[in-house]
Amino acid sequence: SRGYTTMKTPSLNKGLGFSKVERETLGLKGLLPPATLTLGAQVELTIQELRRKSSALDKYVFLQSLQDVHSTLYYAVLSRHTHECMPFVYTPVVGEACQKFSQIYRHTPQGLYLSMDDRGQLRSILDNWPVDDIRAIVFTDGERILGLGDQGVDGMGIPVGKLALYTACAGVDPSHCLPVTLDVGTNNQGKLNDPFYIGHKRRRLIGADYDAFVGEFIEAAVDKYGKSVMLQFEDFGNSNAFRLLHHWQEKVCCFNDDIQGTAAVALAGILGSTALTGTAVENHRFLFLGAGEAGAGIAELIAYAIHIETGKSVEECRKQIFMIDSKGLVCKSRLHELQHHKLNFAHDVAHMPDLLTAVKTLKPTVLIGVSTLAKSFNQPVIEAMSANCERPVIFALSNPTSKAECTPEEAYRWSNGAAVFASGSPFDPVELNGKNYVPGQGNNAYIFPGIGLAAVACGATRITDLDMYIAAKALAKTVEQDRLDVACVYPHLENIREVSLKVATAVAANKYATGQASVLPQPANLEAHIRSVMYEPGY
Ligand code: NAP
Ligand code: MN
Repeated sequence: SRGYTTMKTPSLNKGLGFSKVERETLGLKGLLPPATLTLGAQVELTIQELRRKSSALDKYVFLQSLQDVHSTLYYAVLSRHTHECMPFVYTPVVGEACQKFSQIYRHTPQGLYLSMDDRGQLRSILDNWPVDDIRAIVFTDGERILGLGDQGVDGMGIPVGKLALYTACAGVDPSHCLPVTLDVGTNNQGKLNDPFYIGHKRRRLIGADYDAFVGEFIEAAVDKYGKSVMLQFEDFGNSNAFRLLHHWQEKVCCFNDDIQGTAAVALAGILGSTALTGTAVENHRFLFLGAGEAGAGIAELIAYAIHIETGKSVEECRKQIFMIDSKGLVCKSRLHELQHHKLNFAHDVAHMPDLLTAVKTLKPTVLIGVSTLAKSFNQPVIEAMSANCERPVIFALSNPTSKAECTPEEAYRWSNGAAVFASGSPFDPVELNGKNYVPGQGNNAYIFPGIGLAAVACGATRITDLDMYIAAKALAKTVEQDRLDVACVYPHLENIREVSLKVATAVAANKYATGQASVLPQPANLEAHIRSVMYEPGY
């Protein structure tokens, strides 16, 4: 019957929310118990049921199952309890979910699996997805899932979770979103040996064949969905991520969140810190521990920001930024051995093997940890930072919590309360000498949902470094005074939808200003237009 089909369609299902009239007209009588519950009441019941689940993975599976059968309720729960649900939709629990993805396989298509066996046919496979009007795609090849390495096709949890956050944090309409996993094999021996692994059992495709496969997918997506479809690279390994981004960012509407989204959220923290330190971004000296996707992405965007603020060339601006990788300071004498993404920061300075020497010699005023090296910002390092300036900026961004370069408590204690601190993972507030501190979390969710919302709302044809800088500036402006009062440089997560709207409005304005918007003419009131396209879960 029509009613049965409606109930079985996740986006049309209302659970106990079907009205008496709908039950009559759709032929739902008998398929439901008599009670009628509002969406709000169903949200309340759902959140209580979620709280009763004892294991984090059970909570993840519970929420996914809800998405599979009653998506309006799923997004309503996420939107109204974003802060509580985020860990079970995305990090950290999505990591465990990806490791066990083959065991918890959902028996329902949550996105597209495109396998290297399908080469030559990707465009026609896109027609198998039930929706044609796709505007935002998050795609991975599963090679570097969070900090967990190669998960192969089990990485599908990542694009699924990330797109859920686009909807929960920015109101991107879920019916326009498509999660994609490119199955190019895996080098994870555990997966290859696992009889239940759901992916292709062979080693990773590499070289020209790999690039051609990724290229075929991107071209198929643009052909089917149009030139303004947004393609977000997620959790690619760093030997491919930079090359793919540099190749495609000039040609299609794309960005890489691990590189660029991270960069924007970190830059926002630096810009926000000026209210506390009195030092503008161009007057800082920067030292990074870690020079991978996050490190190089942040460093390049900071250089770009200084370039915009001062008019100096980007090359000149890079000279106040130094990086340390697993072999010590990135410098000129190491040019021959450095990966491409580090070359711009190989300055003409003596090599230093360790962080403490570099802090004492280079005298940075900002220290950023993206190294996964836990506890590396130790007492001597923080004390040396404090000797360089009155209020050192210290961001320990490595995730998960156990990898953080230091805890907020350590940063505040060893700097006598002077540090302006932010972390990658959430930490509790700290009380020190009668003063309260709230460590900000440099969560990418402050940035990428707003970028996606802007791209969808104005039909962006490109996403550029300037957009990332503008997004960072817009985010920095949203930090509330009560947050600055406790030395926090990021806004309340509870306000995330309003924050995303501000980020999206600023980015969309830039798209119109640079002729990279395809929804024309430009709406007279851009913020009102963007607010009007934001998805609100409801019946
Ligand atoms: P990545 O591309 O693998 O880069 C890691 C970098 O750390 C590499 O440059 C590596 O050196 C360096 N490193 C490793 N061990 C080191 C050591 N003992 N001493 C000094 N440097 C060392 O990873 P990524 O994507 O940049 O991510 C790095 C960390 O940042 C992760 O923990 C991630 O969770 C975190 N992150 C946080 C956020 C956020 O808070 N919003 C966003 C993105 C990433 P080599 O180059 O020599 O190998
Ligand atoms: Mn990622």
